Amino acid sequence: MAVAQGQCPNCGAPMSFGAGASASQVCKFCRTVVVRTDRDWKNLGKAADLANTPSTLAVGDRGSFKGKTFEVLGRVQLDYGRGPWDEFYVQFNDGQIGWLAEAQGNLYATQKVNDAIALPPPQSLGVDMPVNLGRYGMFKVVERRNARMLTAEGELPYTPSAQRFYADCHGAGGAFATLDYNDGTKPPEIFVGMIVPLGEVKLNPRGGERPGAQKAALTELTCQNCGGKLPAPKPGVERVACRHCNTISDSNTMQVLARQNAARQRPVIPLGAEGNLGGTQYINIGYVERSAVVEGEQFFWQEYLLWSKTAGFRWLMLDEGNWLFVNPISAADVQCNEYQAMWHGRTFQLRNRNDARVEYVLGEFYWKVEVGETVAATDFIAGNDVLSREKTTDEITWSYCTPVAFAQIAHAFGVNPAAMATGFAYNPTPGYAGGDGGGGGAGGGMMTVGIIICVVLCVICIAANSDGSGGGGYSSGRRRQLVRRLRR
Ligand SMILES: [Zn+2]
Ligand SMILES: [Zn+2]
Repeated sequence: MAVAQGQCPNCGAPMSFGAGASASQVCKFCRTVVVRTDRDWKNLGKAADLANTPSTLAVGDRGSFKGKTFEVLGRVQLDYGRGPWDEFYVQFNDGQIGWLAEAQGNLYATQKVNDAIALPPPQSLGVDMPVNLGRYGMFKVVERRNARMLTAEGELPYTPSAQRFYADCHGAGGAFATLDYNDGTKPPEIFVGMIVPLGEVKLNPRGGERPGAQKAALTELTCQNCGGKLPAPKPGVERVACRHCNTISDSNTMQVLARQNAARQRPVIPLGAEGNLGGTQYINIGYVERSAVVEGEQFFWQEYLLWSKTAGFRWLMLDEGNWLFVNPISAADVQCNEYQAMWHGRTFQLRNRNDARVEYVLGEFYWKVEVGETVAATDFIAGNDVLSREKTTDEITWSYCTPVAFAQIAHAFGVNPAAMATGFAYNPTPGYAGGDGGGGGAGGGMMTVGIIICVVLCVICIAANSDGSGGGGYSSGRRRQLVRRLRR
């Protein structure tokens, strides 16, 4: 229901505001930014065109999650230098306003809080820093950035400004908060809410443009470099690396962004393979080769990006012949110092610390992946379980990783156990070229050996790591780290 009605001061089209908290609106006919004051409606000039983004939400949509219903009133497009992303301005059923953003297969839903809480000055905020949000609890900064506001659509709770400094924070039990310092000319605002898997969000789409959803409805994409056909990307996918020619493209425009060399290894789990792990049905949509330099030597490992309609994105990692299932966890639940990390009453000891670099990608990715991107990675271990931290100046992620027997993965994804022969033969010497499918050449004879090695290593792994110091399994030799993906 409209709280104010009038006309666009530029084109005269009827215009109405749906929320009392809305201060401005972009005219849907002429894209003029209109600011509402007590006295009049002002013309602030044209808003820039909207960029194509993979959002499943659109202005005008209604939806619900965890018993809350919302209506999408507006959207802003922001960028910190790696391409635009969307945040959606919403009104909830209790009249409160807030924001929704999609990332990593989740909805980050927050609602404005009006408590008088003193926030640290923006320049003092670093990742992993604790922030006390009073009755909402303790949070930890997981991302802080200065972003440019590119353009907007629909209603907004403020007059659009060029800059926005913000800090996203994790709280206990899936809580999430954004500290919005805007352009520094107004007092900061606090938004508190939760992280909801997209699969738990019910959407009643009424909105206009939804490029991401349109894309998802397509059956396939065409690589603009080689003309090869690629599967339709999953919701939230930002980048596609062509399985035919290795080029990396924007998933919406299919513009070629980068080329890369062939893979060093062949994926053990083929792209597109589907399987059930722990009761959840996943599809393998992405493959990553990463490396770290340890004592002057470069080491490589593989990672697989899984997507599930209900759970969103998860990772499987293959490191020195051992498979780990990677779960994202809240930074607020981890207490750590240089040598130890505590999580849910368990203590994990420092195992390794190094820089992890993306060497090669294939398939679909929910962030703007680039070959060469590097994070500072630290692993803490307790028995066979790993607590992994990945950090840059602006972002931090924590993951809890548990071993999975290859037999279970092979069974779930219908993988020939011989595939692990290449996994185990993984040769860390630079220059190894296994990307042409040559692994299959060793297949026949190696198959039995592969199975035996696999079983033996699983046993060793279980037996050797109970004290955490480990002589076998993945604690042998050099240690890598895991990957979690940065948010945008
Ligand atoms: Zn207009
Ligand atoms: Zn191609």
